[in-house]
Amino acid sequence: MYDYLITGAGAAGLSLAYHLNQAGLSDKRILLIDRAPKAGNDRTWCFWEDRPGSFEALVFRAWDCIGVYSPDFCARLDIRPYRYKMIRAVDFYRFMDDWLAEQPNIARVWAEVVSVETIGEHAVARTKSGEVYRGAWAFNSIPLIKVTPQPAYHHLLQHFLGWVIHTTQPAFEPEVATLMDFRVEQSGDTRFVYVLPFDAHTALVEYTVFSPALLTRDEYARPLAGYVNRQLGIADFEVQHEEFGVIPMTDAPFPSRSGARVYHIGTAGGDTKPSTGYTFRRIQRRTQRIAWSLRQSGAPPDDRQPTSARHALLDSALLNVLSRGRLPGWRVFADLFARNPPQRVLRFLDEDTTLPEDLLIMSSVNLPAFLAATADVLRGRLSRANRRRARQDV
Ligand SMILES: Cc1cc2nc3c(=O)[nH]c(=O)nc-3n(C[C@H](O)[C@H](O)[C@H](O)COP(=O)(O)OP(=O)(O)OC[C@H]3O[C@@H](n4cnc5c(N)ncnc54)[C@H](O)[C@@H]3O)c2cc1C
Repeated sequence: MYDYLITGAGAAGLSLAYHLNQAGLSDKRILLIDRAPKAGNDRTWCFWEDRPGSFEALVFRAWDCIGVYSPDFCARLDIRPYRYKMIRAVDFYRFMDDWLAEQPNIARVWAEVVSVETIGEHAVARTKSGEVYRGAWAFNSIPLIKVTPQPAYHHLLQHFLGWVIHTTQPAFEPEVATLMDFRVEQSGDTRFVYVLPFDAHTALVEYTVFSPALLTRDEYARPLAGYVNRQLGIADFEVQHEEFGVIPMTDAPFPSRSGARVYHIGTAGGDTKPSTGYTFRRIQRRTQRIAWSLRQSGAPPDDRQPTSARHALLDSALLNVLSRGRLPGWRVFADLFARNPPQRVLRFLDEDTTLPEDLLIMSSVNLPAFLAATADVLRGRLSRANRRRARQDV
């Protein structure tokens, strides 16, 4: 019997284990279960912060200046006091392996988890090979419950192919991270390229699409190579590493719990920002909150994420604009960055803005399109509420 079961030892599970011990819960018995040890750099996490974060020592590169480029707005923006940071998963996993080896209260098991449920007063995790683990609480980041697309919500995917490329001639400005370059064929959805230089010769260049369905590999690789050739003016380059990813962009509810004892965390628990796909920092905030709540009250916090109703509505409105094609994505992001200090935009995307700041943000985008989107979202919510009420009356 454990105090805490942590099923899924990726970004969320490992972060939670770390924050639990940091919060002073190293007297608790913790079990981490994942299907397999990590075998390399399966992703890079980028995010912004205006102060040193929990894993500052693992930051591989950080930039004070970001580039935003669209057909009619091109700027390099000084984002200080924010820094745009990159952590390579491989560094995070290695750090965690070393750190966990020194934590006598945390055990690890490699197994395929098939279920995590509340049974009576306990959380119970079962594996494919038949083992059963019990804990007072479980925190699960394995996508065991599928979120099926529902017409009442918006469902986009953020999907991307990235290459770490190396050039013999200097080709990159190491001080500037290109956050979004929309100067690529949009093909009726939202497409942009990220350029994150490690030094003058090496950068992660990523072709990103917001749309409902994935593309073929060639449909990412061709425009990515074209961008490197034409936009960056690089004829010869070596691809040192490739990453592919899919992140949900949806306002559909993710399961926050399974019964009283199982909490879902990470992407599977709805920690992804619906309108941007950024997740890593939200995972840190969430897992720290859980750790401190366990420390103070012995139980996890009741609510999933301290997202205000206002920010949730704005997220849905932005998703509605993008998924209904009310405006091209590049138009929205170019307007945001052209008409606001970048710090305000970053604060807004972090949901840290005040109401007056949100009004300034809203006045900087195409208001008729956003008002139509907001009305659509509110109509959808109303009809969902009516359907719920009708079901309860039956
Ligand atoms: C390529 C890529 C790049 C990304 N880049 C960014 C970024 O720049 N910034 C950002 O904010 N977010 C980014 N994200 C989104 C998000 O931050 C990451 O997906 C993050 O890793 C999510 O953490 P998680 O713990 O929810 O999921 P994961 O890190 O995927 O962890 C889930 C764990 O569960 C384990 N698992 C799954 N099924 C089972 C099973 N049945 N039994 C046992 N174990 C199981 C997996 O092995 C894994 O270790 C990126 C995502 C991807 C895929």
